[in-house]
Parts: sequence; structure tokens; C-alpha cells
Amino acid sequence: MPPSDKVTIKVKILEEEYHEITIDWSDGQTALQRQQSVFRKLQSITGIPIEYSYFLIFAIPEERVGWSVFYNSDFKLKSHGTLTDDDRFNKEKVMSIIENGDEFIICSDLRCSDDKHLYCFYTLIHTDFLDETDCSEAICHHKESRAFTNRRAQLVADEALNGQLNCLLPNNRSGNEREWVNIYLRLNIYQFIVAVCKQHEPFRQENSGFMLEQGDSRARG
Ligand SMILES: [Zn+2]
Ligand SMILES: [Zn+2]
Ligand SMILES: [Zn+2]
Repeated sequence: MPPSDKVTIKVKILEEEYHEITIDWSDGQTALQRQQSVFRKLQSITGIPIEYSYFLIFAIPEERVGWSVFYNSDFKLKSHGTLTDDDRFNKEKVMSIIENGDEFIICSDLRCSDDKHLYCFYTLIHTDFLDETDCSEAICHHKESRAFTNRRAQLVADEALNGQLNCLLPNNRSGNEREWVNIYLRLNIYQFIVAVCKQHEPFRQENSGFMLEQGDSRARG
């Protein structure tokens, strides 16, 4: 038997069954082709359209060295950075991040792009960080439920809603953060963009494109 040049991980939506993803480093594909098949697999599991899936991050145990954002080359909206680094998903980099047999929870988040269309991004969170019964800092059981994931998938694909966003949001996010939040509230999507659960607010504030308190009436007290 020749030595195996494959790595298999398992991914799932919280409280569902695992799906296997196998990466075969000797399948003759390019790094980018292998990466895109991971995005397509995530689309097939989550229902989130690949053209509105911006990037993928692996959240892995601290002792591992790798940390990287993998940008989806089929992303259709305006991006913040360089999307086309064709060799990013290479063996050396990926194998510094994942190990054969790893299990991940597929977490997704909803945001609005600079060109005013909703999109999602994925964080595959290693099950070392999973609290099976309750929310933890890493994984919110409400946000990552199938119901919420389906909602995010519907929202990015809702062209009537995205048309409204395109119409109503001021062109520049910068300097108009409060107005953007007001529009999210008016279109009833704010609760899908910010934390759904107290536990995650500090993390979400840091990582969202605007400051939470600007749209939060409690902060004005
Ligand atoms: Zn599957
Ligand atoms: Zn931007
Ligand atoms: Zn939670």
C-alpha cells in the first residue's frame, strides 16, 4: 500500500450529523480547486449560496501554529482584500492547521458588504471548543442552530431585501455607521447581524463592522 496522501475531517451543523471532507493532495487539482470544493461542500450542508460566502476561517487548538483566512474565489461582492491567492490552500499551510480526523462545528455569520449586499462567512470551530449543552464564548447554540443558519441562507439570497438595502443604505459605511444600523433595524435584520445571546457580545462587537452601541438604545440610557 502506498502511503496515503489524504486528510479527512468531519464537519457539521450543531446538533446534526457529521459530513466528511476529504482532501487528496495527489488528486491532480490545484490548491484553489481543492479549496473551492470545500466551499461547495459547505454550501451543500448549510444552504448558504457560495457566491455570497466570503471566506473561511479554522478555529483550532492553540498549540497548532497555523491561522489563516481562506477567501472564496466565487464570492460575488466587493471584498476588503485580495481574494485571489491561488496557492493559499496549499498542503503545507492546510496541514499546519488541520489534522486527520479533526471534527469541526460549522459556524456562520451574516454581514453586509461595502456594496450593500448581505453575505456570510464561515468559522469552522474545532470541537475542543464545544460545550455540548450550553453556549460558550466560541459557539452559541442559538446562533448556530439549523433554524438560524437557514435564516442567514435565506437572507443573503433574498434579492428583494438586498435591493432595499442597496437603496436605503448610505453609500459609505464609514461615517454612516449609525444610519446603517438604523436601516438594519428597520428591515428587521439587525438581530441576525449582532449577537443573539449575551455571552457573545464582546466577541461580536470586536468583529462586526460597526459599533454595537451606536444602534443600541440601551447605550443612550
Ligand atoms: Zn455530507
Ligand atoms: Zn470595507
Ligand atoms: Zn448563545
